[in-house]
Amino acid sequence: MTVTTMTPAQLERFEARLLAERAEAAERAAEFDDVMGEVRAARSGASADDEHDPEGPTMTQEWSQRTAVLADVQHELAEIDRALARIADGTYGFCARCGKRITVARLDARPTATLCIDCARLER
Ligand SMILES: [Zn+2]
Repeated sequence: MTVTTMTPAQLERFEARLLAERAEAAERAAEFDDVMGEVRAARSGASADDEHDPEGPTMTQEWSQRTAVLADVQHELAEIDRALARIADGTYGFCARCGKRITVARLDARPTATLCIDCARLER
């Protein structure tokens, strides 16, 4: 291939960065799991006393916000896993749509990018 391929050093750098981001996101997800467990317990009254719950609506709002944040983190984790899988099978850095190289600058900005800048614009 005459296409400029990423150097092993560059690939390693992205892998290290993705692994670091994965660890960080996994930690956030675990934290949310803890908090959600507490909120769930409080809501079901499992661990709560018979105190009337004056913060019902607030709790529900907080709950949905947390659920949304957790969904974001899980989505991020899935993207990172897919990127790591692409590094493993050698397809990392290639556009999933046109097969061209994604520029290193773009991957620097978004290591989980699956599309080159042109295809990303078309998808929008
Ligand atoms: Zn493309």
